[in-house]
Amino acid sequence: MQRPEPQSFDRVLSSMCTEPHPAAREAAERYLATNPGDPATYEAVASLEERAVELLATLADHPTPTDAAGYVTSGGTEANVQAVRSARNRHDASDVNAVVPESGHFSFHKAAEILDVELRTVPVDDGYRARTDAVAAAVDSDTALVVGVAGSTEYGRVDPIPALADIAHDAGALLHVDAAWGGFLLPFTDHAWSFGDAPVDTLTIDPHKFGQAPVPAGGLLARESAALDALAVDTPYLETRSQATLTGTRSGAGVAGAVAAMEALWPDGYREAAERATENAAWLADTLAERGTDVVEPTLPLVAAALPESEFDALREAGWKVSRTAAGELRVVCMPHVTRDALRAFVADLDRIRE
Ligand SMILES: *Cc1c(COP(=O)(O)O)cnc(C)c1O
Repeated sequence: MQRPEPQSFDRVLSSMCTEPHPAAREAAERYLATNPGDPATYEAVASLEERAVELLATLADHPTPTDAAGYVTSGGTEANVQAVRSARNRHDASDVNAVVPESGHFSFHKAAEILDVELRTVPVDDGYRARTDAVAAAVDSDTALVVGVAGSTEYGRVDPIPALADIAHDAGALLHVDAAWGGFLLPFTDHAWSFGDAPVDTLTIDPHKFGQAPVPAGGLLARESAALDALAVDTPYLETRSQATLTGTRSGAGVAGAVAAMEALWPDGYREAAERATENAAWLADTLAERGTDVVEPTLPLVAAALPESEFDALREAGWKVSRTAAGELRVVCMPHVTRDALRAFVADLDRIRE
């Protein structure tokens, strides 16, 4: 069989992943046959993982990055599942719940089902941010975790994290921030989202999204090591005594790629990528609005716009990888590979379709 070429990124406007940095590509290949899940055997990649956690903790403004707790996950899904699992294990009640805004990623539904935790979904406001009054009304003494989203998957919104932390802690719950996508953009904004901005307990931040690392590389960080201790199981046949990760054998390529990307790009490369993406999103939003299209004003570089289904289909037909929000709007994620020229060509195609 002829092997298909992987897609080129030229017309990919729908993905939260992007082209890896060249140094990350090279590092990933060197570490292909290593397993950070067995640190006593694969010592080099194990030390790289410590470096990855330190770098991620630096991005997320952890008070002590050199001894932050965390690990490189298979992605945001695993990090979110593990955050729910850790909070459940640390809570006294037998039937715990987690309070998540409706803008929360679907990985929390997976977490709730796997872990048998009740998911309490609360509405967002007109600006697509978690409503604090609704969160406060939803928490009770069985609430183990409150989730705030910092860079929501559909509209790129940042929930009021400090207020959510107060509500969580007043109820005896923990506060998890899902910055899977936003974590590599938010350090260059005024948003309050990090360990430094609020008493955040755990946080998801994915190198394989805006971090320009190869897939798979997600991140789970915790303020205190107790969050990871609550996940540890005994590992009889390994030299290390316990393991806090969800998967056993893990991608050394992901770990090495993440470190290489972060060392190459933090902070200036990420700042430049964030600025370019933000300008591109603003340009696209303005350009669509000028054409009479209803646009959801971007905060982070993610543009949603009302587009008739026929136009959406015609754009897909023209080779554009575009996706939709649950409400049916066109959703364009301005990742680092999305250039202004690509967006100009996209708008030109839209104009042609509308003629
Ligand atoms: C992408 C994303 C996830 C899921 O991450 P995966 O790496 O796809 O598992 C979770 N939360 C948010 C906010 C995301 O954008």
